[in-house]
This record gives sequence, structure tokens and C-alpha cells, in this order.
Amino acid sequence: MSKVLIAEDNAVNRELLRELLEARGYTVVEACDGQAALHMIEQTQPDLLLLDIGMPVMDGFGVMRKIRENPRLATLPVLAFTAYAMQGDREKILNSGFNGYLSKPVNARSLAQELDRLLIKQEGPSTSPDQSRESQLDTRTRAAGKGK
Ligand code: MN
Repeated sequence: MSKVLIAEDNAVNRELLRELLEARGYTVVEACDGQAALHMIEQTQPDLLLLDIGMPVMDGFGVMRKIRENPRLATLPVLAFTAYAMQGDREKILNSGFNGYLSKPVNARSLAQELDRLLIKQEGPSTSPDQSRESQLDTRTRAAGKGK
């Protein structure tokens, strides 16, 4: 099954993303700042990166620059995960090499759609998610999404 690296400095958001992803059968690894994210990419070789923009040490744009400068990582799918909702920020994100964009608070369906779009399922039909658990998590994410 595909492995997803969550790079996000907010522990509550990390935990909610982990639960949503694990409910859909993904393997999850985590990093809590930009430098740690680059380290974890080397260590764990994820299939996809969920990258928060506002993070300490190195922000999401800095991480993205390092990733695309590295020939071995040039094709790694990266989704921006951010509360920045303004049109200019969205354009800046999509012009910085990201493969897509998820707004906070995370929406379980948008997350699933983007993962399906970017990851080719190689191990047969995906496990069907537990719908009630997923909507419950979605609600919690909404509540936790205030702030950065
Ligand atoms: Mn953040």
C-alpha cells in the first residue's frame, strides 16, 4: 500500500490526517518541520507528501524548492496543505511545483480525491473506508482547523 508523509507542525492536524489516511489503508509517516520533512523523505521514501506551508525551520515553499532541485525527487507528488485561502496564495502554490492543493480544515472527500488522482493503486481495489468513522474525523478536523 502507498506510503504518505505528513509534514505539518500542528500535532492535532497531523493526528487527524493520520487517522483519515490509515482509515483508507495508507501507511503514514510524519514530520513536524520542513527540515525534518526532507530528512524523512530520504529515510522513508514516501509515495506522496502532504506538505504544510507554514512550518518552523523551513516552510513548505523552501521544502518544495529542495525537492524539485533533487533529480531523484523531481516526480514525487506533493500536495500543499494550508489555511492560506487567498487566490494569490493558491496561484503561488501551484506555480511552485506542487501537484495540488488542500485547504484547511481538511475535507475527507477532497483528501481522498486528490490521493486517488495522484497515486496509482498497484495492489488491487482500495479498501473501502469506514464512512461513519470518516465523517466523524472530518467534523473533528473542521473544529481543529482554526488557527495555523
Ligand atoms: Mn503550520
